[in-house]
Amino acid sequence: MTVKYAQVIIDVNSDGVDKPFDYLLPRELQEKVQVGTQVIVPFRSGTVRAFVVSLKEESSVQNPKMVLKVEKAAAHLSPELIRLSYWVSRYFFSRWIEAIRLCLPPGEGRVKPQYEEIVFPQKEKPLLFEESKRLCNKAFRQSLILEYVALSAEEGVPWDVLRGETEAGRQSLNALIKKGLLRVEKVPRVRVPWDEETFAAGSQPSLVLTGQQEKAWQEILKGFEGQRKHFLIYGVTGSGKTELYFRTAEKVLSEGRTVLILVPEIALTPVLINQFRGRFAGQFALLHSNLSPGERFDMWWKVKRKEARVVLGARSAVFAPLENIGLIVIDEEHENAYKQEEAPRYHTRDVALQRAVYHGALLLMGSATPSLDSYVKVQRKELELIEISERVEGRLLPTVQIVDMRREFKQKNKSIFSRALLSAIKETIARGEQLILFLNRRGFAGFQLCRVCGFVMRCPYCSVSLTYHTNPEHLQCHICGYRSDATSICPECHSPYLRSFGLGTQRVEKEMSMLFPGINIIRMDSDATSAKGAYSKMWKSFYEKKAQVLIGTQMVAKGLDFPEVTLVGVIAADVTLHLPDFRAGERTFQLLSQVAGRAGRGEKKGRVIIQTYTPWHYSIRRAASHDYKGFIAEEAKRRELLAYPPFSEIILFCCSSPDEEKARRYAVELKKRLGGKLPINSREDFLLSEPFPAPLQKKEGYFRYHVVYKGNDLHRFAGEIREVVWNFRKELREDVRVTVDFNPQIML
Ligand code: ADP
Ligand code: ZN
Ligand code: ZN
Repeated sequence: MTVKYAQVIIDVNSDGVDKPFDYLLPRELQEKVQVGTQVIVPFRSGTVRAFVVSLKEESSVQNPKMVLKVEKAAAHLSPELIRLSYWVSRYFFSRWIEAIRLCLPPGEGRVKPQYEEIVFPQKEKPLLFEESKRLCNKAFRQSLILEYVALSAEEGVPWDVLRGETEAGRQSLNALIKKGLLRVEKVPRVRVPWDEETFAAGSQPSLVLTGQQEKAWQEILKGFEGQRKHFLIYGVTGSGKTELYFRTAEKVLSEGRTVLILVPEIALTPVLINQFRGRFAGQFALLHSNLSPGERFDMWWKVKRKEARVVLGARSAVFAPLENIGLIVIDEEHENAYKQEEAPRYHTRDVALQRAVYHGALLLMGSATPSLDSYVKVQRKELELIEISERVEGRLLPTVQIVDMRREFKQKNKSIFSRALLSAIKETIARGEQLILFLNRRGFAGFQLCRVCGFVMRCPYCSVSLTYHTNPEHLQCHICGYRSDATSICPECHSPYLRSFGLGTQRVEKEMSMLFPGINIIRMDSDATSAKGAYSKMWKSFYEKKAQVLIGTQMVAKGLDFPEVTLVGVIAADVTLHLPDFRAGERTFQLLSQVAGRAGRGEKKGRVIIQTYTPWHYSIRRAASHDYKGFIAEEAKRRELLAYPPFSEIILFCCSSPDEEKARRYAVELKKRLGGKLPINSREDFLLSEPFPAPLQKKEGYFRYHVVYKGNDLHRFAGEIREVVWNFRKELREDVRVTVDFNPQIML
């Protein structure tokens, strides 16, 4: 077949060009262009970059324009990733180009690759020595260079090293190259992201599996042979899931295939990275957003060049340019962070499944608290369940006590610590053991309120109250980051009685240091860990017992393994419970179970105390009794009754504008148009809501209105939905944004 035309997706952000365009391939490019190739094409009055998505012999377009050139040094995508980007754009209602960009090197265009020059011998060693001797008097530096290169092994010497060692200039090297004695090769230099100072890589031997791990391993092995390759590993905290991931990865590598391991951003602890480096030295790459742009760029290329066959990364690494994938792991699969909250609003689990199917790879999703979404897939036989119900070495799950804070208050205890928690803290400190205090709110106090007129300090851009922070004292919006000065004078009635209410981690830190003067405390939240390397340092000093108390937000709930922690205190379990979101109960259960799981991971037994104003709530009770199955059954019943996911699907449409009335009007119009195209069924199989103000009514200066479409198998109508929304957006002339989110994780 003679390929003459390329269909391309133009790299321009607009709904109008969100479709393939035909271009003619000049004869000299016909061989060079494949699906995934980056090309330059004429477009409108200029030229743009574009991605080839298919090739054809004929085109129905009259006089198509010509592809101008192939970008030689650019990142070309595999046909698999082109296919995947198409699927992502359809499934999650984004533009194709937005999905393609996920597959490109991060920071592309802003970061320059770095190269290193390596000097190699071009002649036999004896000859080089001979030349070196001959040049000794005439050209001393040249003679030194020759000698140095001759003495080095065949892998060559970096020019930087050579220059440093011989103090020779470039002209000496050039002279030797000209004489045909040496040659220089430019090779990419990889900026290495690991924190070499904090941790030295140690190679870890594989452990002897416990009985339950062994059973799980046998199940996984069946996946290598059989058809059922997608697993949900439900293993309690500390049951040793990581070792299973490692084993599977090693087996996959030995078969010549590649491995992708995904963890939530906050679980990317120095320990985990270090364990990986130890086990997979030399073929390992790290991809996540805390790397510098240069590091991310280099790591991506390292994978692309096939120098790394194991990738460890956060959400976006699911698009890593690996080929021949044999295993994808999603650790802590229940985490919200796996859903991207901006276009393309993809869920990592769904994307990973697509890739696993394409490659015939194993998929291992692990958690101590699997999401209801995944658990239901087990019942539907889409995932195989593997259970590990015991911790390694017979360690016990911690005992959990719930403290009713209303009773504390009635009995005149106005402290943030209940009597039970306070005495447990005292005992733990006296015994020289470590403890974690968890509160899922950063800052000092939740909000500031005037005791005279009831005025609450709010963000001018978002419909939330401002959080009071100390060090330095200020007010902060936790949605958009807006800051303002703190004051005690009410801006409304000018009384001096503006006071702060509600708790944050800074307050807990202050109370602790007042109660236990001289004790070492680490506070771990996104304020305290914003500087590069801060997180690792904190982690390390707590691990080395340089501090006895760790106070933190959800950052301390995930993936941390501190064997000396015997007490975990939850200051207020209700923080996440009352969010207007149907997943609030599930999220609270997961968070409490995870944070409780940080206690008793060593030889000593652990203890957990949960303080709450809603002690009867099923999420809190089930978390306290380590009853995942009981929780999931109850949660499933509720969600099924209300026909919420995973017993239905939801598409969330959001219209937003700086003008509230406009946002509302456009939402009304959008609903009308959707209503004209989509089935709406009175028996409530398909339900299209009236527009309503979003729970988070205003965000970053935009008023927001939601329209919700709920039903089953909604992708049957994906074409209609795209058409309505894309056309609607094309017509927008005012400052109104319209977004579509398929199965949102957060409904605010
Ligand atoms: P999970 O991810 O399931 O919460 P981890 O994988 O972090 O648990 O394992 C908990 C701890 O148990 C780790 O310190 C790990 O090194 C250790 N561990 C895992 N498997 C074994 C084993 N077979 N023998 C001894 N220790 C183990
Ligand atoms: Zn006031
Ligand atoms: Zn704000």
